[in-house]
Amino acid sequence: MAAYTISYSMDLPEETIRGWLEALCEVAVQYNIAWLRANPQAPCCVSCADNGRGLRYEAPRVSGSEVRFATAPELLERGRGTCHELAAYDCAHKRIKGEMAKCKVKTQGNDQFHVVIDSWGTETDPSRGLNHA
Ligand SMILES: [Zn+2]
Repeated sequence: MAAYTISYSMDLPEETIRGWLEALCEVAVQYNIAWLRANPQAPCCVSCADNGRGLRYEAPRVSGSEVRFATAPELLERGRGTCHELAAYDCAHKRIKGEMAKCKVKTQGNDQFHVVIDSWGTETDPSRGLNHA
């Protein structure tokens, strides 16, 4: 599994979509944990990837009602990722280090969602500071 695509309807309550997206992020985190354990030479975070230049951030392309999740190998190969793909990568690394990290979906107005990492109540945003694709 390098990536998966989910079809959905946005005509759901915001709280439902948020919980559902967090569950989808967790699928990618679980995959990334297994992949990173098998590939310990992989960059320690999205900021250090690409020889220290960092991956690039790209806005999710929501075509119709589909959202695509690239997991670690595809993310590194493409050199760019959406907020949920970047968060699932860094979240997996934190989990491997024993942190209680999880992906957290935040609402940004009009059906816009942004995914960050919640670790012991502290939020970090792996997308922040990255160049945009
Ligand atoms: Zn790093």
